[in-house]
Amino acid sequence: MAGRARTRGCTVIVGCQWGDEGKGKIVDVLAEEVDVVARYQGGANAGHTVHVGEKEFILHQIPSGILHPGKRCLLGNGVVLDLVQFFEEVDALQARGVDLEGRVGVSRRAHLLLPYHRVLDRVAEEAAEEKIGTTGRGIGPAYEDKAGRRGIRVADLTDERRFGELVERGMDRARARAGGLGAEAEAALERAMAEAVALRERLLPLAVDTGVEVESALDRGEGVLLEGAQGTALDLDHGTYPYVTSSNTTAAAAATGIGVGPTRISEVLGVVKAYTTRVGNGPLPTAFDPEMDERMRALGGEFGATTGRPRRCGWFDAVLARHAARVNGLTGIAVTKLDVLDTLAEVSVATAYRTPQGEMTEFPADTFGLDRVEPVLETLPGWESSTGAARSLDDLPPNARRYLDRVEELAGAPVRMVSVGTKRSQIIHVE
Ligand code: GDP
Repeated sequence: MAGRARTRGCTVIVGCQWGDEGKGKIVDVLAEEVDVVARYQGGANAGHTVHVGEKEFILHQIPSGILHPGKRCLLGNGVVLDLVQFFEEVDALQARGVDLEGRVGVSRRAHLLLPYHRVLDRVAEEAAEEKIGTTGRGIGPAYEDKAGRRGIRVADLTDERRFGELVERGMDRARARAGGLGAEAEAALERAMAEAVALRERLLPLAVDTGVEVESALDRGEGVLLEGAQGTALDLDHGTYPYVTSSNTTAAAAATGIGVGPTRISEVLGVVKAYTTRVGNGPLPTAFDPEMDERMRALGGEFGATTGRPRRCGWFDAVLARHAARVNGLTGIAVTKLDVLDTLAEVSVATAYRTPQGEMTEFPADTFGLDRVEPVLETLPGWESSTGAARSLDDLPPNARRYLDRVEELAGAPVRMVSVGTKRSQIIHVE
């Protein structure tokens, strides 16, 4: 990274597909240049995998900036904080020699995800007529409590008695909604709750106002990254509803989810994989046939970082990329996993969707209709050579550059970074 200008101002990193785009690696690379990295939404259902040297770190809630000594890492108010999982992550990082002293802050306005939310998640998914394919970690119910104005926030931990009362109320509601738990489940829940409640004193010293912190950092001329989880197609409003996550993943939510105004954001970098993947249920218009699906899953290692679930794979979807460019106001894109396509003789991109009514070029609101569209594919020649050692666009085979040019043209946002492998060094910066 020597010689690169430091990233100033506030940059949002947002996934532009169904999550798992490799945001963790992009944030990890850019974190070197900034002072603060903050998560603005989601919970422990997100899983970023970051490779540092020979070590692999899987982070669920703590921003991947934590792997850079001295960087401040924040969890904004838009996040739902799973206390137990959070401290497990803290302990695991410390056990591997990462110094966290004074480096982690959690918004006082963030909502807590408590063990009863997991119970509610399971009950809801079992009862659902159409399965969303949630990770079962209680994220949806925690956001429901937030919107329902019955959530418990980090600020509520301050007064121990009041916290106890809120927890009891939450437990009673969960028992009622689950229709009785049975002795075994009740005992398990009580144990899990006791474990979570006991973490109160550990969390209190970390509680901050993330808006104030980020604003002050920006006023001092520091660089800030706001890191999203999941992706645009999983956004509660702009994704493939109802097969979406329970929060707004798109760039505008970064301002709300941290506590600064949208005018403080200077850049929005959209992360797109060079192809498409999707975990969980719901339409995937550019899905491969089963044979190619299996091949790409193996080539790209497309299994969930949190759940190990196999991801469905497909060609790059430019209809979705254009939608993402618009709803996020992208100022640039980072294309990841280009190397995964290295062995293919041909690569395709979907430029539109074919429907009985004609070709569709805008990403539709009708999710169930999306299941029935056919992608209009444009096929380009593959490069059939390794890209992993490329450090500038000039190092890439001509057909790989051609592919990137086409992706850029179709997405309507300039390519700013290209990732060609899992390592930190395997990155191309496009100035
Ligand atoms: P995230 O949630 O968007 O960060 O994505 P994941 O962590 O689920 O997936 C990213 C996975 O892809 C991790 O295992 C990364 O190490 C890996 N990865 C990221 N960028 C690249 C790349 O350019 N090439 C390859 N081969 N793997 C990559």
